[in-house]
Amino acid sequence: MLEASRRWRSAGRSIGLVPTMGALHAGHLSLVDAARRENEIVVVSIFVNPIQFGPNEDFERYPRDPERDAVLLGEAGVDAIYEPPIAAMYPPGASTRVRVGGVAEPLEGKARPGHFEGVATVVTKLFAAVQPDRAYFGQKDAQQVAVVKRLVRDLDLGVGVRVGETVREPDGVALSSRNVYLDPAERRAAAGISAGLLQAASAYAAGERRLDVLRELIRARLAAEPLVQLEYAELVDPDTFSAPGTLAVIAARVGKTRLIDNLDLSKPAPG
Ligand code: AMP
Repeated sequence: MLEASRRWRSAGRSIGLVPTMGALHAGHLSLVDAARRENEIVVVSIFVNPIQFGPNEDFERYPRDPERDAVLLGEAGVDAIYEPPIAAMYPPGASTRVRVGGVAEPLEGKARPGHFEGVATVVTKLFAAVQPDRAYFGQKDAQQVAVVKRLVRDLDLGVGVRVGETVREPDGVALSSRNVYLDPAERRAAAGISAGLLQAASAYAAGERRLDVLRELIRARLAAEPLVQLEYAELVDPDTFSAPGTLAVIAARVGKTRLIDNLDLSKPAPG
């Protein structure tokens, strides 16, 4: 990968990277389209990164479909798929980890110890191998976006971080590779998450600014879904992830599946 990247760079060609864990859907492909528009070369990485999963999380059963992914990326016109084996990313003896402070600590950082350290480490390695001018991340994982922006600034990585809007199903559910875990009843209940966010956004648009009231609207909407167990619903600053702020962030369990979603209440609601 590094050899190819160096060749492209020495030929003066710009490189866009879209990091993914595969099992691609329209959310990933929207990032590929954005990369295509802004760069001469587009690289998509597919790597289910073991060190960003906790011991009781879904690393083993995470959906994998490299053949289908390759077809989709071929149709999307990407120049390279970077799909390193785990042993190449973390060979015996590898012991360096990248830990981002502050923004990586609350919410997802607290709920998933070690998660953002795994993310920051793999993103740093992917940037080193691909040497991108720009890298594309989804707003769906809003705290990951904030962590990666902090990482790039703090380590002077010189990569432009671009953020793509969350792509949703017609009923509002954010596309996620993990949605395949949901049975039909759970899938219907999952729509309560984005519905709660939209209710808070409508109240905000109508002038409601009391954060506890907005948060309570989200909680009440999710309480109406017996299959959904809310883990947190908070209103935070989108850069620091500390309260108060206008970014409504949710983590919830639907059956055994953990889903996250978010919406910036100060921006006009989609749809
Ligand atoms: P993943 O394969 O889940 O690690 O996601 C790879 C990238 O795609 C991350 O930057 C995600 O934030 C982004 N992504 C995932 N789901 C969506 C979505 N529904 N809309 C937009 N981007 C997404």
